Amino acid sequence: MQSISRRRLARAACIAAVSLAGAMVVAAEKAGPQQPWSQYKVHDMTRPVPPVVTPGTASTPEQPGKPPSDAIVLFDGTDLSKWQAVGGGEPTFRVVDGVALSYGPKYMETKEKFGDVQLHVEWAEPAEVKGDSQGRGNSGVFLMGKFETQVLDSYNNRTYADGQCGAVYGQYPPQVNACRPPGEWQTYDIIFHHPRYEGDKLTEPAYITTLQNGVLIQDHQRIEGPTGHMHVASYPENVKLETGPIALQYHGNPVRFRNIWVRPLEALDLQQHTGQVADTTAKPAEQK
Ligand code: MG
Repeated sequence: MQSISRRRLARAACIAAVSLAGAMVVAAEKAGPQQPWSQYKVHDMTRPVPPVVTPGTASTPEQPGKPPSDAIVLFDGTDLSKWQAVGGGEPTFRVVDGVALSYGPKYMETKEKFGDVQLHVEWAEPAEVKGDSQGRGNSGVFLMGKFETQVLDSYNNRTYADGQCGAVYGQYPPQVNACRPPGEWQTYDIIFHHPRYEGDKLTEPAYITTLQNGVLIQDHQRIEGPTGHMHVASYPENVKLETGPIALQYHGNPVRFRNIWVRPLEALDLQQHTGQVADTTAKPAEQK
């Protein structure tokens, strides 16, 4: 009796083991139903995996952090070789003690043009407070050379809301004022999507998401058109705005910049949604 039970148990265990192994093989090979939004099935092992990126490190007040491994480094404290004066020629900004000082008479812009990006910029307002309203620590980060995210010393400095630090200038104030006191290093982490067109027709405006010092201040905010002063923004007709340089504004105030890097997003977006492997994502960071 006892030996029969043992045999049954052993046989049952054997069957269970074989079944489990079979189930594991099936789980590894058999995908689920077709996803209607992609060319892949649910849990599809043939779908290309994302590229590997080594994350960067956070900055401290004394030391800029390291960019992620796939970033294009635009300024690492050494030189402005990635930049030119707006329209061409040497930038008038100056590199002093590892920072780029906003110095006139011209804005500076990247030589390379970008569309959709993740952009990291660090800046510090002059420690010595001078001027007020728009005259205190004014600079700006321009996406595609057209769309300004305002840089201003808005720490205890009243100005018009759609022109304070973090504003889509002349259009949308930031959701909150997340400014640090003048003299302290601050960060912008910006995710920007350029306008979309079908033929010559604008179908989607530009959008911007901005974190200032880690605080969300623009949440997938629609941009109404290129930045202007004292005018209602709108998109120009018969001009497609799809790429452009990243520009930093000279507005008469010695704002300092450091640790500027960018990650183009369009090849990654294509890979994520279609599986077409991005060939621009394996670049090592150009960090020295
Ligand atoms: Mg400005």
